[in-house]
Amino acid sequence: MASMDMTILGCSGSLAAPDNAASGYLLRMADGRQILMDVGAGVLARLEALGEPGEVDVIFSHLHPDHCSDFGSLVVWQRFHPTSPARHRHILLGPSISAVHLGRAGADHPDLVEDYSDILEIGTWQAPDAEAVPVAFSDESRGTVYPEHRIGETRLYAAPAVHPTESYMIRVEAADGTSLVYSGDTAATGHLAALATGADVLLLGGGVSANRRLRALAAQRCAAAGVSLVVPALPLCTDNGVMIATLAARLIDAGADASPLAVATDPSMDVEVPLLADAAVEG
Ligand SMILES: [Zn+2]
Repeated sequence: MASMDMTILGCSGSLAAPDNAASGYLLRMADGRQILMDVGAGVLARLEALGEPGEVDVIFSHLHPDHCSDFGSLVVWQRFHPTSPARHRHILLGPSISAVHLGRAGADHPDLVEDYSDILEIGTWQAPDAEAVPVAFSDESRGTVYPEHRIGETRLYAAPAVHPTESYMIRVEAADGTSLVYSGDTAATGHLAALATGADVLLLGGGVSANRRLRALAAQRCAAAGVSLVVPALPLCTDNGVMIATLAARLIDAGADASPLAVATDPSMDVEVPLLADAAVEG
């Protein structure tokens, strides 16, 4: 077995497609650990067909639904599957909000936060107890220290991504140094270039990988640096930024006022039904 083997369980950005799950990647490591990288909608069904849901450690780039919405069902499998539940506690690594965010999603009551500690040891990418190894993969990291995390013999490093929620790009290094970097829905940044330096594979993922500038830059830089680039086909990269812009264009066509250019971004802004209704009537 190669030191790291990746199966793409799904790579459909923003939402699952009829024949392709949302983001989820299964990494089989030479030491026997199986690492599930993101758990978007449809990923668990693919994992049931191609892997062992009871035996995966889980890492999250971020907690947008297309990267985590099958997590609750994965927990059900690991806890209760009659023949192949988790044989031991697994590791979960993700944003600092993981325990609360995922706990709320899996709780039976809105005031409760589900406790997963019976099956999962939850850590965060920026955990202060992570061994702080000054891994400067290149000068572009400008001296940044990337905390080192371990899952078995695998070393993992994460850097903050540019995205509306707390997000990370992730470098996974097998014991023999074979390495893969997952962009985790980020735009092009110095951190991404730094983490990908010397890597064997750069995997662009999530809806943001529809960004033509990001795709072109990644292709150009990877070719120059000898890094293999894995990027989903464009029709699978449903960028919800484009969906939002298209909605806005239709509203403006229907007579709604455009926002001023100085408008602040608010990823949780309400999309008000009356606005749509008024626009439709006026249009
Ligand atoms: Zn996202």
